[in-house]
Amino acid sequence: MRSENRAEEPTADQVRVAVDTFRLLADQTRVRLLWALADGDELDVGTLAEIAGTTQPATSQHLAKLRLAGAVDVRKDGRRALYSIRGVHLRRVIAEGLFHADHTLTGAPPHN
Ligand SMILES: [Zn+2]
Repeated sequence: MRSENRAEEPTADQVRVAVDTFRLLADQTRVRLLWALADGDELDVGTLAEIAGTTQPATSQHLAKLRLAGAVDVRKDGRRALYSIRGVHLRRVIAEGLFHADHTLTGAPPHN
């Protein structure tokens, strides 16, 4: 990477994990789930299923995968499990991906 604010080329491991992350995100339900969590809220499965427009079992399966991959954390609050997104970088990836999608759809010119 030859940009002035990026000193070092990514390592092979960094590129591999980045690709794994993009692969993890390459799913409409997961993008919706992470978008729902991107502002830092902790949400339960029922709320997330509603936002994602899918069933609770399907939502639970996606959340399990996201958790295994380290993309979300879960915390018990009594009998409820509350999910949160893990870290600012993933939040930005989701937000920037959706900005990119918006600009692509609206034909907004590229900008810096
Ligand atoms: Zn923009």
